[in-house]
Amino acid sequence: MARILGPRRRASQAEDLVPQSWYNIVPDLPKPLPPPLLPDGRVPPRELFERIFAKALVGQEFSSERFIRIPEEVRDVLIGLGRPTPLFRARRLEEFLGTPARIYYKFEGVLPTGSHKVNTAVAQAYYNMVEGVERLSTETGAGQWGSALSLAGALFNLKVRVFMVRSSYEQKPYRRVLMELYGAEVIPSPSKLTNAGRAVLERDPEHPGSLGIAISEAIEDVLSHDKARYSLGSVLNHVLLHQTIIGLEAARQLEEFGEELPDYVIGCVGGGSNYAGLAYPFMRFKLSGKKSSMKFIAVEPRACPSLTRGAYTYDYGDTAGLTPLLKMHTVGHKYRVPPIHAGGLRYHGDAPSLSLLVNEGLVEARAYSQTEVFAAGALFSKVEGIVPAPESAHAVKAAIDVALEARESGEASVILFNLSGHGLLDLQGYLEYLEGRLRDYEPESIDLSYLPRVSLRGGP
Ligand SMILES: *Cc1c(COP(=O)(O)O)cnc(C)c1O
Repeated sequence: MARILGPRRRASQAEDLVPQSWYNIVPDLPKPLPPPLLPDGRVPPRELFERIFAKALVGQEFSSERFIRIPEEVRDVLIGLGRPTPLFRARRLEEFLGTPARIYYKFEGVLPTGSHKVNTAVAQAYYNMVEGVERLSTETGAGQWGSALSLAGALFNLKVRVFMVRSSYEQKPYRRVLMELYGAEVIPSPSKLTNAGRAVLERDPEHPGSLGIAISEAIEDVLSHDKARYSLGSVLNHVLLHQTIIGLEAARQLEEFGEELPDYVIGCVGGGSNYAGLAYPFMRFKLSGKKSSMKFIAVEPRACPSLTRGAYTYDYGDTAGLTPLLKMHTVGHKYRVPPIHAGGLRYHGDAPSLSLLVNEGLVEARAYSQTEVFAAGALFSKVEGIVPAPESAHAVKAAIDVALEARESGEASVILFNLSGHGLLDLQGYLEYLEGRLRDYEPESIDLSYLPRVSLRGGP
């Protein structure tokens, strides 16, 4: 009988692999990070951010410290929830592909809500609790962020109110159930609770909702309650900072496998937090010249191609245009994102630091259509035994492609990718894949002519 390879090899998960500090890439970027701006070109005052977010988080958002200490309580809770997450070597996938490459993946899907999002949710809930905030308000599309924040709220005795895009609220009840199990209040958006919601409902009582509207509702809700604050699950510097725990652990786990720095670091990008979380602690060594040959690949859906086809320019964070402008790769805040299953990748923009790195040519961006992504996810399920979230399957697809390129060139490259979540609550997409019913979407053209033209007025 042929020797059967175990599904995978796992690095140690000793608690001391969890870092004591997060890594902030901002001071190491090749150019200064462009600040958020108001439409008139002014830098928004700190107080504006502090009315919306916990002060400590605003401090991190604008920090230029390279390392920021993780509060002991946050680190303990993350360990209690399952950190460090496993780093696996995908030996069966390597063998299946016949590649000389060694493929490693960090699996964030072992965390209780099934993805990396709880890494920042816990930190954000902690700082809000310390500052005496009583309730957190946020938006969620498919529900991954909402469930992570609901869990974190339950752990730190904070009330959580989630404005959930109505179409998901109705079509995807399981994520809502998860949030309600954690004690959160889930409100289908547009709702009658806010002016923003009421205005939309007046025009169209059957409106399916959108992330943009839900963000507007959550912010309005926070502005009308003194002890409420807003939480965001991606895009902002402090969120990416909290996610670097992923890459810091992975670097030490790779060492255990006897590897040095990887040749390729791959991840999927919605707003950029899971990819930055894995990649930035390695990017540090590319930027410092310790290993400048390292290649970074950010993967997005063809249906929402902000990195590959968007512009690098100032745009609003939300559809309604209520937030300050961020300099980022964007397909425009009015872009109607097609209904692909990778709900977490349906965002029009990208984190400013990641956008800068792509624009500087330090990160390569690739885009795939959803059928090829689900095919990669299905292959991975069969060979490695883990069903990837549709978002994460984008990273799987790119890792497979790079491993096949290595087979052609005969190079024994080391590939590291982030498996940001499991897909066990996304089986509807896999069902459509199996039945050959998936639709692929690709915009013919992207209209950015309506975007405001702003430039910095005066110093920050
Ligand atoms: C939300 C989500 C993403 C996309 O968000 P990023 O901020 O780009 O990481 C990717 N994977 C999973 C599993 C998610 O839940």
